[in-house]
Amino acid sequence: MSSQNPPAPRATVAAIPTYVAGKPPAPRPGQQVYKLSSNENPFPPLPGVVEAAEAAVAQMNRYPDMGNSALYDALAGRLGVPREQLAAGTGSVAVLYHLLQAFCDPGDEVVYAWRSFEAYPIAVSATGAVSVQVPVGKDGRHDLDAMAAAVTERTKVVIVCTPNNPTGPSVSDADLRDFVAEIPDGVLVVVDEAYREFVRADDPIDAVALQAEHANVAVMRTFAKAYGLAGFRVGYLVAHAEVAAAVRACALPFGVSTIAQAAAVASLAAEAVLLERVDALVAERDRVVGGLAEQGWSIPDAQGNFVWLPLGDRTAEFVTAAEEAGITVRPFAGEGVRVSIGEPAANDVLLAVTGNWVG
Ligand SMILES: *Cc1c(COP(=O)(O)O)cnc(C)c1O
Repeated sequence: MSSQNPPAPRATVAAIPTYVAGKPPAPRPGQQVYKLSSNENPFPPLPGVVEAAEAAVAQMNRYPDMGNSALYDALAGRLGVPREQLAAGTGSVAVLYHLLQAFCDPGDEVVYAWRSFEAYPIAVSATGAVSVQVPVGKDGRHDLDAMAAAVTERTKVVIVCTPNNPTGPSVSDADLRDFVAEIPDGVLVVVDEAYREFVRADDPIDAVALQAEHANVAVMRTFAKAYGLAGFRVGYLVAHAEVAAAVRACALPFGVSTIAQAAAVASLAAEAVLLERVDALVAERDRVVGGLAEQGWSIPDAQGNFVWLPLGDRTAEFVTAAEEAGITVRPFAGEGVRVSIGEPAANDVLLAVTGNWVG
């Protein structure tokens, strides 16, 4: 007999929120349009990266190096950590999935700030763990005291997103150290540093040094933002060797492609140019932040490659105005809009829209 009822997935799957990707701009005849909705790097790939990727294309009939050897060697040299402490994945989001799978049983708790990176509740639900969301302050900062207080016997992982996507502020090294001191040894503190290169705040975090002192600290980084490899999907973890081994054990075999590995290694070799470009983006960010302040906007401290406009129930209205002006931004319904720092002309469009905005 044929059945019309498919097998049921785990109950937790129905609870997985949908990832809302930043929209690409629709073409507008006679008008230049810009995508400021996904925190991508507006610069083209770093020197030597396209060539390295093209050379790797010729090996697409072979599986990638499953051990990510060249990438781990380059990162180990760059960071001064043994390669045993590294775990790579197809973006740091994939690394987070692997980490949660390695550390969380169903019903275990994962504490993180909210609003923060939208991939967190998705990854936690997919694992079958439970999200414990601790509201950020009005200034968009993590409430680290409340996060420490939210840790229970069921907590396995605490995520600190710094700078926080989408609100912008970063956590200081001193505050992170005080926080880690409050967290039990059996709870893993994951520091998500996707935007670390853009931080210009006083007392920036040295997460790798902190990790060396605390076996329960793990650092997540990505090639997607400052390094400009969003489309190639490479991220990594720096953690205690046993933590890193557990994360590697849960990783998809052959996840990071040959091309992505080659591009990441070539990007690390081009770090001097990378830092110049990051400086240029930071200068643009500061110009945008200054322009917004002159226009009378009050926004949280912007330490990533984006700004947060807390528009509340006028969010949708702003998105429409931005689209008409030629920029797509990332709305969070009823809360606000995250706008990536793009090329200067795109940032000019943003300042024109915000300047016309009657607050
Ligand atoms: C963009 C981003 C990442 C990186 O994601 P990838 O999977 O590496 O592209 C991680 N964390 C935060 C907070 C981000 O905004």
